Amino acid sequence: MTYFNFPHIEEDDNLKNLRNDVKSFLKTTFNSNNIKPQADAWMYSANPEFSKKLGEKGWLGMSFPKKYGGREKTMLERYVITEELLVAGAPVAAHWIADRQSGSQIIRYGTEEQKKEIIPKISSGECFFAIGMSEPDSGSDLASVKTFAKKTADGWELTGRKIWSTGAHLSHYMIVLARTEKLDEKNRHSGLSQFLVNLKLPGVEINPIEDMTHQKHFNETVFNNVKLNKDALLGEEGMGWQQVVGELALERSGPERFLSHYILLDNFISEFRYKMSEMGITSLGKIISELQTLRMMSFSIAWMIQEKKSPDVQAAFVKEAGNVFEKKLIETIREMSNLIPFEEWSSSLKSLFQDATLRIPANSLRGGTSEIMRGIISKQLGLR
Ligand SMILES: Cc1cc2nc3c(=O)[nH]c(=O)nc-3n(C[C@H](O)[C@H](O)[C@H](O)COP(=O)(O)OP(=O)(O)OC[C@H]3O[C@@H](n4cnc5c(N)ncnc54)[C@H](O)[C@@H]3O)c2cc1C
Repeated sequence: MTYFNFPHIEEDDNLKNLRNDVKSFLKTTFNSNNIKPQADAWMYSANPEFSKKLGEKGWLGMSFPKKYGGREKTMLERYVITEELLVAGAPVAAHWIADRQSGSQIIRYGTEEQKKEIIPKISSGECFFAIGMSEPDSGSDLASVKTFAKKTADGWELTGRKIWSTGAHLSHYMIVLARTEKLDEKNRHSGLSQFLVNLKLPGVEINPIEDMTHQKHFNETVFNNVKLNKDALLGEEGMGWQQVVGELALERSGPERFLSHYILLDNFISEFRYKMSEMGITSLGKIISELQTLRMMSFSIAWMIQEKKSPDVQAAFVKEAGNVFEKKLIETIREMSNLIPFEEWSSSLKSLFQDATLRIPANSLRGGTSEIMRGIISKQLGLR
């Protein structure tokens, strides 16, 4: 059996000071701009002005090289900032994907021109990205994507349909996974490539999709014979699968996988701190200790990414354990209504709880489903 581990990484004084700086920045900025904290804000709450402010503080593009407009800080520093933004329910959705994964893909695989053009704008909070992986018939089985990029004299012609593209309507670019060769059933991971697609190009159509909370944060994105220049190819032709696997580790391993509804817990405790029975305190204590373990694992992955390791399986573990945790958190808060009836909850707490309940199903789908995560983990453990 092959195990995988999570080295223990301590938060040093530099990181603790950074954490305090972020906390006080958020307090002042929320007050002076009348920003209301939101649950699941990394997906639902976009505020380009706020993203720009973070860029001005130097808190985006943290790990990118200075010569491309990045900050040359560590992944651990980035982790501390993202954690504080999440627990505050800050409106980070506009820049989240660009800062989390698209920028790193460009740094890793992009040409000099792509890096010089795009990375400074991501770091200043002025360039947003969407993820172009899923299609109507390809979600878990990503290798089956049908969107096709045909080589032309000037570059490529892109045809196909992506779905559930979070924030595409606000984004400047999408990194699209497309076939550049017909599917070979014996070698399904070959013949795929990634493209940096400017979403303002003629032939790109973005259609909103409404979710159960009646919000339109994701979309269907259609490519109708979109003409791409040669330099739209990201990385190597035919290496799309290898590239996308690394991108998924960045997508799955972060604290948003278990802190999306933290403000529900925080608000509940603030409201009922002195009214809770011993049973209530015990239930919340269990939740908080699980949360602490998840934080340590995710922090450890940030360190592994910094050390250029490939924590793909650890990322799948955090994604899945985070998903189980978030469900349990919402369920525990619901059970609290047996001890403190809903009538005593403030309207803002009730509304946080309602939204969280309606969003539970999305947690185990976005970023890869529970079954797929468990499959990756069991393979690593030699169980299948
Ligand atoms: C809120 C939200 C935001 C999203 N944002 C984006 C985005 O920005 N960009 C993007 O590209 N995608 C996005 N997605 C799509 C997401 O990645 C897919 O929904 C996910 O990968 C599952 O694919 P699917 O919906 O096609 O389901 P399917 O793959 O059809 O799966 C259906 C069910 O079958 C199970 N299943 C499938 N294959 C197996 C298997 N081999 N073994 C066991 N069980 C299996 C699945 O676990 C699931 O329960 C988003 C989804 C949500 C909910």
